[in-house]
Amino acid sequence: MSERITTEVAAELWHGASDDELKRLAQAARGCWHEPDHATYMVMRIINYTNVCVAQCDYCAFYVLPNQEGGYVLSREDVFAKIDELLEVGGDLVAFNGGFNPKLPLEFYCDLFAAVRERYGDRVEFYALTIAEFVYLADRAKLSYAEAAARLRDAGVHWVTGGGSEILTEDFRSRHAKWKYTVLDYFDAQRAIVESGMKTTATMVIGFDETLDERLEHLQRTRDFQDETDGLFSFLCWTYKPYGTAFGGREISPQEYWRHIALSRIFLDNVKHIRTSVLTQNEEAFRALDYGADDFDLPIEDEVTQKAGARIELDLDALLAIPRQLGYTVEYRRAERPAALTA
Ligand code: SF4
Repeated sequence: MSERITTEVAAELWHGASDDELKRLAQAARGCWHEPDHATYMVMRIINYTNVCVAQCDYCAFYVLPNQEGGYVLSREDVFAKIDELLEVGGDLVAFNGGFNPKLPLEFYCDLFAAVRERYGDRVEFYALTIAEFVYLADRAKLSYAEAAARLRDAGVHWVTGGGSEILTEDFRSRHAKWKYTVLDYFDAQRAIVESGMKTTATMVIGFDETLDERLEHLQRTRDFQDETDGLFSFLCWTYKPYGTAFGGREISPQEYWRHIALSRIFLDNVKHIRTSVLTQNEEAFRALDYGADDFDLPIEDEVTQKAGARIELDLDALLAIPRQLGYTVEYRRAERPAALTA
């Protein structure tokens, strides 16, 4: 299949194609970008700097409201200790992710990120925030997205990743996360990140109550955004963990996840990297390499998903043995500094 597919064709594939057929199409699409038996990975840690959040997404088991018991903000020493531990196990990527904490203004983050850059230089790369958190902070600071992006960039930030997207339809957001901004806000903010010279990524979470149409709308919006900006480094899809959340529900099967990865690889013909989620699929994540994925993280911590039932495996050699048994060579990949911000 060399032509770009529509959402109608994608729906037909989803309903009608066998696993083998989807795999074959996804591998052909993967082959336009990558060697067939080769995959890349990173060792990373998600640092959840605060669990205080006012967004109240019903699928989240992580947050506490301001003034509720159990809220925390990590000290700078805590953050440095976590980064030091990551370096000790051979990782070099940190993702900062927390809640919409009304007590922490944009300057708090700029100071923290500047301190991390000063202490570690380029030994560590970090995803500073998700787009959702960025929107909240810009809004609170009464700054345009362009102004807020410039402040982060000037503090040494290179990446603001596409987290907090879940399912990018207005209806999904009003059902589950009505305080988490609109889809329009999300892409306006992400466009400002790209235009500031920083890098960004696309993400998606499946397995709530979203319809196939909603999944395809998310993919369509992602592809359109990439056509417009060419700013997305990668697309990562993970799966909803329902334990301890207000929304509840059940986990989807690995097969459904693999099929969605295949469909994403086929549909997103303008995104180079399709990433599979070891954080939420564990050993099953590696099978997605056969379904078009080419890259993955080995995370050593993420409190947000762990609170909702994710299991972290710290024996990284044992994990890497799995894709090797599947026939892949695996190569460590360092996060790139954006060309526009080259020192
Ligand atoms: S998912 Fe993120 S924004 Fe939503 S309640 Fe949890 S911490 Fe807050």
